[in-house]
Amino acid sequence: MKTRQVDMKVFVKENGSSLRERLRDRLEMASALRCKDHNEPVISVTIHERENGWFDSVWTTCCEGLERRASAIVKARC
Ligand SMILES: [Zn+2]
Repeated sequence: MKTRQVDMKVFVKENGSSLRERLRDRLEMASALRCKDHNEPVISVTIHERENGWFDSVWTTCCEGLERRASAIVKARC
C-alpha cells in the first residue's frame, strides 16, 4: 500500500508569526487536490505575509483551473 504523499512544496515568507501553522489545514487540503483535466497536484505555493492576517499566495500549477480551486481553499486571510 502506498502511503499518502504530499507533493506540494510550500514556501512561507512570514515575519516570525505563526502563519504557516495557521494555514496548515488549508494547505493540506490544497495539496490533496488533483487537476480534473491533467490529474496533476499543485506543484508549489509561495505565501507572502501581509498585515492583519492577510497574505498573498503565488501558485505554480498545471493550469488556471487547478490554481483557482487551490486558492479558493487557502483564501487570502486567516
Ligand atoms: Zn491542469
